[in-house]
Amino acid sequence: MAQDHGFHPVRIKLVIQETADTRTFVLDAPFSYRAGQFLTIKICGTLRSYSMSSSPATDADLMTTVKRVPGGLVSNWMHDNLEPGDVIETTRPAGAFCLRETSAPLVALCGGSGITPILSLVKTALAATERPVRILAANRDASSIIFAARLAELAERHPGRLEVRHHLDDVDGLVTEPVIREFTGGDTNADFYLCGPQPFMDLCESALLALGADRGRIFIERFTPPAEEPSGDEREGTVTIVLNGRQETVAQRDGETVLQSARRAGLSPPFSCESGHCATCMARVTEGEVKMRVNDALEDDEVAEGWVLTCQGEPAGPHVTVVYED
Ligand SMILES: Cc1cc2nc3c(=O)[nH]c(=O)nc-3n(C[C@H](O)[C@H](O)[C@H](O)COP(=O)(O)OP(=O)(O)OC[C@H]3O[C@@H](n4cnc5c(N)ncnc54)[C@H](O)[C@@H]3O)c2cc1C
Repeated sequence: MAQDHGFHPVRIKLVIQETADTRTFVLDAPFSYRAGQFLTIKICGTLRSYSMSSSPATDADLMTTVKRVPGGLVSNWMHDNLEPGDVIETTRPAGAFCLRETSAPLVALCGGSGITPILSLVKTALAATERPVRILAANRDASSIIFAARLAELAERHPGRLEVRHHLDDVDGLVTEPVIREFTGGDTNADFYLCGPQPFMDLCESALLALGADRGRIFIERFTPPAEEPSGDEREGTVTIVLNGRQETVAQRDGETVLQSARRAGLSPPFSCESGHCATCMARVTEGEVKMRVNDALEDDEVAEGWVLTCQGEPAGPHVTVVYED
């Protein structure tokens, strides 16, 4: 059975001002979801993903929390324009930044708006399991801590099970490796969840690995796509992309995804997470073969029908044609 990757109208029930630059949008959305997943929202034709801050185990409504990004198109538009009663278009929830079936401690390391999926995971783990939970929440200063009151309330309700440690740059400086070492106490028997700015996550990941954490137990959610690899050398073969009635053909390049080829061809293809989770960039292969590096979004029957995630798909033959649906 093919999954539903389309867009659905969803009404905004409530808008909550969390901090000066962060708002939670409470949605009238009948979707089931797993803690840690995200929605992809379409605003004026532009797609952006936003994680749920709500928990399917404890919150009646689905909520997503959006921080203004200076100069950013969609986050600012949502803050400046959306009010209760407005309708936005969104996909169903997607993503693999989810809890495992385990009794191991959950240790979350987050920075800024990275608390959004972490809060969803933490609320769910506390309500649905016996797992101990620890959070290191890094922020610029006290006024920028999102969910400060909510976290304090959860810690009070789960004494001995939830520890929340706030790290403030204006008091403590930036998070460093010794901070991570001290926070974990060298204990790496846990599932680690990382979400925040890229340099913060890089630091946390390398500190955890240096402490001996198992790479397979470090889960990372990236809000920005990994830096685009420079294209490799041109090689024999072509990629033809059809989008909105326009057809462009470019030479294949080593290590280049179909999405990158489409951009290089001057097209503006749809994309969002660029990690193989959301299916926003899906398109159908009508000629040749495309191999995906990661596929956490398409079902086997969709792949059998020729659908690929273009952000993860590389041509595996000399001539490839890929068609984006209108
Ligand atoms: C899986 C996933 C989950 C996410 N969850 C959340 C969440 O829960 N909460 C949240 O707040 N965000 C989340 N994000 C991030 C979110 O999707 C957006 O990336 C973010 O809101 C910025 O989007 P924007 O349209 O406002 O900014 P954009 O317009 O994309 O701009 C981003 C940055 O690029 C700069 N920029 C834009 N155009 C140019 C240009 N031409 N030249 C130079 N610089 C430029 C802007 O100034 C800005 O600094 C998530 C992302 C992913 C992939």
